[in-house]
Amino acid sequence: MELVGIVNELQARRLEMKSRLERTHKHIHEKEEPVSANFSEQIKQTENDQLVMALDAEAAAEIRQIDAALKRIDQGVYEQCASCGSQIADARLKAIPYTDCCIDCANQQ
Ligand SMILES: [Zn+2]
Repeated sequence: MELVGIVNELQARRLEMKSRLERTHKHIHEKEEPVSANFSEQIKQTENDQLVMALDAEAAAEIRQIDAALKRIDQGVYEQCASCGSQIADARLKAIPYTDCCIDCANQQ
């Protein structure tokens, strides 16, 4: 399997998640808009904050998975299932480039 394309894709995705993290961090830590006095506005702000925090957590988790995948590529075990050791199908790696287990193990989780 051609890994160069996968590495490029993972790195592009990582950059995308990094810039998302920068935006979410800005929103969480440098909030400029004051808390609204209007109750329904407050709810909207809270909902928005929760959404931003969910996006933030998601991006952080994805970066961890991408880093793990890049490390696996480095170590030459990228196409090997981390739990049972069998070959991970190319189609699965193309669909989920940062997966570390084969479809059988994923179904058992
Ligand atoms: Zn497996």
